[in-house]
Amino acid sequence: MLTVNEIFHSIQGESTRAGRPCVFVRLTACDLRCTWCDTPYAFHEGRSMTVEDVVRTVDQYGCPLVEITGGEPLLQDEVYPLMERLLASGHTVMLETGGHRPIDRVPADVIKVVDVKCPGSGEAGKNYWPNLDALAPHDEVKFVLADRADYEFAREVVRTKLHDRTSPIRFSPVHGTLDPKQLAEWVLADRLPVQVQLQLHKFIWHPSTRGV
Ligand code: SF4
Repeated sequence: MLTVNEIFHSIQGESTRAGRPCVFVRLTACDLRCTWCDTPYAFHEGRSMTVEDVVRTVDQYGCPLVEITGGEPLLQDEVYPLMERLLASGHTVMLETGGHRPIDRVPADVIKVVDVKCPGSGEAGKNYWPNLDALAPHDEVKFVLADRADYEFAREVVRTKLHDRTSPIRFSPVHGTLDPKQLAEWVLADRLPVQVQLQLHKFIWHPSTRGV
């Protein structure tokens, strides 16, 4: 059984698929506590569902793109059969993970969006660096940045650990904390080969709206 916080149909707000309709499967529980976390309700709230229950619910939306997120989805072992089952039924499957759990058991066809936690999150000590060596070209790396110190940390990781990777690298400012214009200016000044992204859903709906 899986413990599922929510399943909903919305617009993909981040990643290279931003703007596309997507079904989100948010799994319960996380073993990190990022200072800027915007889904703390996913730490504990949830209901038990079988893999087949989840697939049936996802299918009701008739949407080819599915993202499994959390919480930290890799904490639940049943997430692996869920990913296999969604792939087998023809979905494009994305997995959003905090970057502190090994991604080597994730099916190869799943598009992994792997966070690298920066110091401002309070969880930078938990990064599982071998994940960066396990990235496929279709996977993505995401840094959420709260301030200049986070930017300098991320810039160093890009230059030293990601310079030979072809996966897209996304820099996302903490909504309401770091001015996106400021981040864009830093990226331009450094000629950094990254993509600045905003959380699209927080502009379409109120930033505190759940289930979008
Ligand atoms: S890893 Fe994600 S869900 Fe967990 S505390 Fe950090 S932002 Fe929140």
